Amino acid sequence: MILIFSSYAISAASQNLPRIIVLSTGGTIAGQQPNTDRAGYIPGKIPVDELLKNIPSIKQKANIQGEQIAAIGSYDMTVEIWLKLARRINEIFAKNEADGVVITHGTDTQEETAYFLSLTVQSDKPVVLTGSMRPGTAISSDGPKNLYDAIIVASDVNSTGKGVLVCFNENVYEARHVVKVNTLNVNAFAAPNAGPIGQVYDGKVSYNAPSSVKNRSFVPFDISKTETLPTVEIVYAYADASNVAINAFINADHPGIIIAGTGNGSINKTILESVKTAVKKDIIVVRSSRVVSGQVTTQYVGPFEDAKLGTIVSNKLNPQKARILLMLALTVTKDKSKIQEMFLTY
Ligand code: ASP
Repeated sequence: MILIFSSYAISAASQNLPRIIVLSTGGTIAGQQPNTDRAGYIPGKIPVDELLKNIPSIKQKANIQGEQIAAIGSYDMTVEIWLKLARRINEIFAKNEADGVVITHGTDTQEETAYFLSLTVQSDKPVVLTGSMRPGTAISSDGPKNLYDAIIVASDVNSTGKGVLVCFNENVYEARHVVKVNTLNVNAFAAPNAGPIGQVYDGKVSYNAPSSVKNRSFVPFDISKTETLPTVEIVYAYADASNVAINAFINADHPGIIIAGTGNGSINKTILESVKTAVKKDIIVVRSSRVVSGQVTTQYVGPFEDAKLGTIVSNKLNPQKARILLMLALTVTKDKSKIQEMFLTY
């Protein structure tokens, strides 16, 4: 992956302003379309310099430098790019190159990247993701406003120590709780279990809820030497689901499986039998849920009694975030009680 340093750097007069580095990865916010009134577009086409030129007044709020990390639709996000992003952000803060980082990112996997970074960035300083639902060239594109707001959030000292944030449609969400909840609408994100912790209006962010990130001096995972992550797959549960997918994952010897269960991490008898086989093979199986709010709790009785099955529960993490935590957890331990503790903590 090529790291291109942008020429978009503001100089001279603004020396006392916060220093913000904008890392661009592509997405709809950088999307170009042949027809401004149609939905079809190619993501990741507009370079970071152009995105910043669309919000000229931001120069009064921050000293900004752009870097192009990738130019992809976020459905093509990879572990490799996650590791590069995390390393670059850690380097930025270790070398004191900036006071805050903004990442422009497609919305499809934005919650996953935010959560991955929240587990791997070794700094209290603000890291804020944003994107847009309408392409950069669309009528009334939401990208410039979202980018402006994200820079405002990253520039504010009150954003320190809040972990990685997503700023979208004037709301600020914590990485752990944020979920994409709409395929098309500009109000595409929510935090069903927690709500937004802040709002951005008129170039100011105000926080209305305490951060759930306790003390950012603790950093769960050091990825400075990590080249790749163990493979963890997701099995989706539904009425009369077959065991074809889970058995394929078991036969592939992948070390972890997340269940996107119906309800409180529940699964039908067919998948349950395969879960027992997986556990016998020392595969870590985590019960999560396809339901968008609530949590998956440890069962002490009934068909999903975790101690008996040898399964662990995802707590409030949805399947795609549970996968990220398990991939990282498996880099340090295979001890189920330790991994369960991580799910209850992170
Ligand atoms: N397809 C886009 C993506 O890169 C969607 C978006 O950015 O809104 O995730």
